[in-house]
Amino acid sequence: MAVLLAVLSGGLVAVVADLPWWSDALTGLALGGATYGAAHAWLVPRINLALTTLHQIRKHQFENLQATSVPRGDELNTLIWQVYRTGQTLENEIRELKRMENYRREFIGNVSHELKTPIFSVQGFTETLLDGALEDESVNRSFLEKIMRNVNRLDNLARDLSAISRIETGELEMNVAPFDLGTLIEEVTESLEMKAEEKNIYLRSQVPNGLPTARGDRERIRQVLVNLVDNAIKYNDAGGHVEVVARHRADDEIKVSVVDDGIGVSPDHVARLTERFYRVDKSRSRNQGGTGLGLAIVKHILGAHDRELQVESTPGSGSTFGFTLPAAKKKEGT
Ligand code: ADP
Repeated sequence: MAVLLAVLSGGLVAVVADLPWWSDALTGLALGGATYGAAHAWLVPRINLALTTLHQIRKHQFENLQATSVPRGDELNTLIWQVYRTGQTLENEIRELKRMENYRREFIGNVSHELKTPIFSVQGFTETLLDGALEDESVNRSFLEKIMRNVNRLDNLARDLSAISRIETGELEMNVAPFDLGTLIEEVTESLEMKAEEKNIYLRSQVPNGLPTARGDRERIRQVLVNLVDNAIKYNDAGGHVEVVARHRADDEIKVSVVDDGIGVSPDHVARLTERFYRVDKSRSRNQGGTGLGLAIVKHILGAHDRELQVESTPGSGSTFGFTLPAAKKKEGT
């Protein structure tokens, strides 16, 4: 096409300039060749780049994708750039799908593993009772208590799983508003007093007078406090102490700390405590009805408040789990 156009334009030049016929043809051919060569050099490498990029995208070879290296500006460059960006978007989406798939597989594996132990225990003790132990006064009560403990574990697991899946799929909406943190701390310590007493643990709270109103989702922060205080009781020995302390800091943040003098955690475990199903001592956690999900839930809730869980712990001496919340502005809180 370029050659034909060039021959015609060359002929036109020759006619206008009144040159002989063979000169028409030569000029046409020369112009045609030059136009074709220029078009070839200008277009073909970029078309090849677009084809290579499309081929790589089809084969999912995202690591070698190249953006256009020739000057920007014309439609072909825009097209190559769009193909390149499409490849990048696809790569990100595929990576995210793989991550979700791994997460789902790992999660389902963990959940079925967690379910197996209590279900086997309930089955085993029930069968033993039905096979005659029901009439044996020396064991029947303790077997029923073990069944009850395992059913409670299943119940805890169902609740924590429902909470974590709603949080992780983003279904759980945060309802952030000013609230009285001191009252909430009192409510939480009261609700766990019985549990602490059963284990012979002294539980108390320390909230200064005039603590300003905090800003956050009251019910979610209740969940955070319940998990932290419950752990401080669970991972403590008889005669131990648990204290919930609130403090108004100079930067107008309210710091809440749950302090215990229990078993503590060694530094190599601290960084992993908020991972789903991570437990330092699996059997101790299970015996206490633990699911290994409590601190993962705490981390998500604090994350939704743009806050982090702070952990300080010394094995054998105890732990402090803390977080901060902003004080509500005067007008909001009153
Ligand atoms: P669990 O249901 O096992 O208590 P969590 O997610 O609440 O799960 O806690 C994870 C692990 O962190 C626990 O199994 C325990 O090993 C450790 N842990 C949490 N709180 C404390 C604490 N106050 N003192 C010592 N260890 C703790």
